[in-house]
Amino acid sequence: MTINVEEMAVFCKRKGIIYPSSEIYGGLSGFFDYGPYGSEIKRNVVNAWWKEWVRSREDIVGIDGSIIANPKIWKASGHVDGFSDLILETEDGKEQIRADHFLEEQLGGNFDGVTSDEVNKLLKKHNLTLKGKKFKECVSFNMMFTTNIGPKQGNIGYLRPETAQIIFADFKLIQENARLKLPFGIAQVGKAFRNEISPRNFIFRSREFEQLEIEYFIHPKQTKCPYIDEVKDFSMSVLSAEMQEKGEKAVSMSVKELLKKKILQEWHAYFLAKNIKWFLKLGCNPKNFRIRQHLKDELAHYSSDCWDIEYKFPFGFKELQGVADRSDYDLSKHIKHSGKDLSLFDEETKSKVVPHVVAEPSLGLDRAILVFLFEAYNDDKKRGNIVLNLHPKIAPLQVAILPLVKKLDDESRKIFEDLKEDFNCFFDNGGSIGRRYARMDEIGTPFCVTIDFESLEDKAVTVRDRETTKQERIKISELKTYLRNKL
Ligand code: ATP
Repeated sequence: MTINVEEMAVFCKRKGIIYPSSEIYGGLSGFFDYGPYGSEIKRNVVNAWWKEWVRSREDIVGIDGSIIANPKIWKASGHVDGFSDLILETEDGKEQIRADHFLEEQLGGNFDGVTSDEVNKLLKKHNLTLKGKKFKECVSFNMMFTTNIGPKQGNIGYLRPETAQIIFADFKLIQENARLKLPFGIAQVGKAFRNEISPRNFIFRSREFEQLEIEYFIHPKQTKCPYIDEVKDFSMSVLSAEMQEKGEKAVSMSVKELLKKKILQEWHAYFLAKNIKWFLKLGCNPKNFRIRQHLKDELAHYSSDCWDIEYKFPFGFKELQGVADRSDYDLSKHIKHSGKDLSLFDEETKSKVVPHVVAEPSLGLDRAILVFLFEAYNDDKKRGNIVLNLHPKIAPLQVAILPLVKKLDDESRKIFEDLKEDFNCFFDNGGSIGRRYARMDEIGTPFCVTIDFESLEDKAVTVRDRETTKQERIKISELKTYLRNKL
């Protein structure tokens, strides 16, 4: 990782990966557009995740819910009354900042879960100001975006602040349609909106973002995770609540050890390890990941335990994914507010049971993309250009077809037409070959195929590997198989 987040934003804009939204009108803080290459990366990350968590599993199904739902959902879930952050506004009303983040910057430490009274006391005690400006009283600010549903004014709706609640509201339908038996999970990928007080760090904290979420339901008595053996020997860097209270540093521990020491319970250990393993499978460095347990006053009121997977961004270790135990909080709330029975019949005990969400792995897609970009970015001084070492599964293009000179276009196009059936290909006949290789390196294209005059004779092409720059001569008839094996 060689650049900071501002430099990454500049790079992404220059290479057609991510732009600030509506820039011709001065932009809009907290909103971004994914460009031609960014939108491919995003699609690939979602596909890789969906394949891992939905298609390859028998116990998890997916849904695609609406962004605006009956506002009663958000009343029942507690978001209308409690989905808020504490805001500090300067006395002239010109600047607003999130209180916990401000305190963190000024005083160090973690201020998640701090109350407005505590903030006001700390401001006084440390005489804190923003660029010399004093603050008004700290108040809470609801982060849900509102809209009007239909032509009649006053019919308030909310843009969903998380995808999860849609899963709970549809729980019974999904369970019946997919004939799911406990334990099972329901996954969803989609947009979420939060009116963040101070969006920052590029796409790390925006107002419109995407989430990849799973609600995993169990019988409340099922403490054993049947999949735990898959991850028992996996080691992760761990920072438990106790270690934080004692001021200790994170240490690497295997899942086996974590279970033995009762730092983690099986389900949590499984989801944390499996999620980190997914990032490693896609080329990330294990050293940049750690799991951190929420402190008692950091825990949401419904959560009995919550661990975050944190990533070492250039601006510090920050939450990439939360894995909370939500118990039966949400289903019970929806049972109460809707008056509908959302319990399941348990064959074993011959009784009705409200399933518990033992783990809610909730990953921010944009944060995941930022991780992949930081991991891949390499300013290769020897080559004289940036190389984005993205895993081939998430690279925006897989193969570039480069005729050495325009005269070879016809022959090259035939190869392009054939390859694009199987791979995401790009045809580029403009500029020197060195420049074209560099352009492909910068957006992370794993392979370049060059067609030269000799190709007409030997029916072979040169394949250049992005990672090593090594070139190999491959018969056109064997090219597809060669690339398939490599990719
Ligand atoms: P934070 O403490 O950083 O505000 P959170 O604890 O409120 O995050 P969750 O409600 O647990 O976040 O949301 C689950 C995931 O959604 C987060 O781990 C993160 O990856 C992503 N996420 C949340 N808020 C944003 C945001 N404003 N921009 C981008 N991603 C976000």
